[in-house]
Amino acid sequence: RTGYWPTTQSKMMQYQRSSALFNEAKKVIPGGVNSPVRAFNAVGGTPIFLTHAMGAYLFDEDQNRYIDFIASWGPMILGHAHPKVVAAVQARAEKGTSYGIPTALETEIAKRALSMVPHMDQIRFVNSGTEACMSAVRLARGFTGRDKIIKFAGCYHGHADAFLIQAGSGAVTFGSPNSPGVTAGTAKDTLLAAYNNLEHVAEIFRANPAQIAAIIVEPVAGNMGCILPQASFLEGLRSLCDTHGAVLIFDEVMTGFRLAQGGAQECLGVRADLVTYGKVIGGGLPVGAFAARKEIMDFLAPLGPVYQAGTLSGNPLAMTAGLTMLDLLHAHPETYTSLANKTAFLHREMVPLLEEKGLPYQINRLGSMMSLHFTDTPVVDFETAAKGNNDYFKKYFHGMLKRGVYLPPSAFESYFLNDAISQKDLEHTLEAFSETIKAL
Ligand code: PMP
Repeated sequence: RTGYWPTTQSKMMQYQRSSALFNEAKKVIPGGVNSPVRAFNAVGGTPIFLTHAMGAYLFDEDQNRYIDFIASWGPMILGHAHPKVVAAVQARAEKGTSYGIPTALETEIAKRALSMVPHMDQIRFVNSGTEACMSAVRLARGFTGRDKIIKFAGCYHGHADAFLIQAGSGAVTFGSPNSPGVTAGTAKDTLLAAYNNLEHVAEIFRANPAQIAAIIVEPVAGNMGCILPQASFLEGLRSLCDTHGAVLIFDEVMTGFRLAQGGAQECLGVRADLVTYGKVIGGGLPVGAFAARKEIMDFLAPLGPVYQAGTLSGNPLAMTAGLTMLDLLHAHPETYTSLANKTAFLHREMVPLLEEKGLPYQINRLGSMMSLHFTDTPVVDFETAAKGNNDYFKKYFHGMLKRGVYLPPSAFESYFLNDAISQKDLEHTLEAFSETIKAL
């Protein structure tokens, strides 16, 4: 070991307090958590409970420190507790935390966001990625006067009913609910396609003439691990939407302001009609947004007939955190190169260690998103992602955790690097990786 890591942080890490707190939480919060992936169900064991986070690090109740590779699932792109964001939020809090009445701040962040992303005329702010995607679909339906949407198996767009759909029986068919509480009526309007399978999408269009309002897609998928769109997949969706008069919705809740200032639209050079945002756009406070050209946004209330609202939408604290974050990214475009270089370094150095051990693996990476699947088959969609060996994944996750590296606690989630991660942190991560992989 390098000696860099505190000596108390050895392979003998303790989790007693987290464990006790989890038991306490389970009495009053279903499953002890407010969002399921935090419960470690996919990897087993007890989730760690945090006291605080700073820069690249997480600190838990048992005084363990971890290098953070999830960045609050994306938002903390510059690291935790960035001094400029903290100072801006503190100053703003003294002026009141919510009014339900407009502020100039909302126009300012709208202008900043629209200046960074291509092809969008107007943006509306909401409170989460779920709300953004739910509202975007309603708007696309209102705009086209059609009911059905196409989504891809394994893409996640939040927990609104229309998205909690799994493939039904047969190749081209209606979806069926994948959660009790979602009605069959809702499910019949969501048609499921396989990611990276353009022919499948074309077939769905043919089977549902003039009925499809929108395709919603993660332009780079982050909810089956990280999966990249294959050559001309997104371009193909664009042209199918053009041919059939459907709205192309890019869910950039993860990729927006992360892959590039202009998100996947900029990074991959494909234009969407409607785009949803979340995560980075709130600087760590609860914010989502959706944007489109004016012709579409004119359909929204109060101008148009499609209803959408929110008491806390445009909340001054959240807008302040988001604006400060976007201003920082706008002023420092080199952040994106730095993040991509760090991620590429990690990828490059992981490969020989995996090869040496002779493990089956696939690493997918773009910008600061990456994932490792323990399979020989290229991971291009949900079916291939599901081929990953979960026993290896569980041991890998816990091996890294006890060596002070916090990875996503599920093989179906992407890593999100933050720019506070230093070269030393990467080297420590690789040491931990080497030891963990050898022990698998
Ligand atoms: N879309 C995508 C692509 C996501 O990854 C997520 C959440 N991880 C959502 C939508 C939902 O966002 P939220 O959790 O803020 O509701």
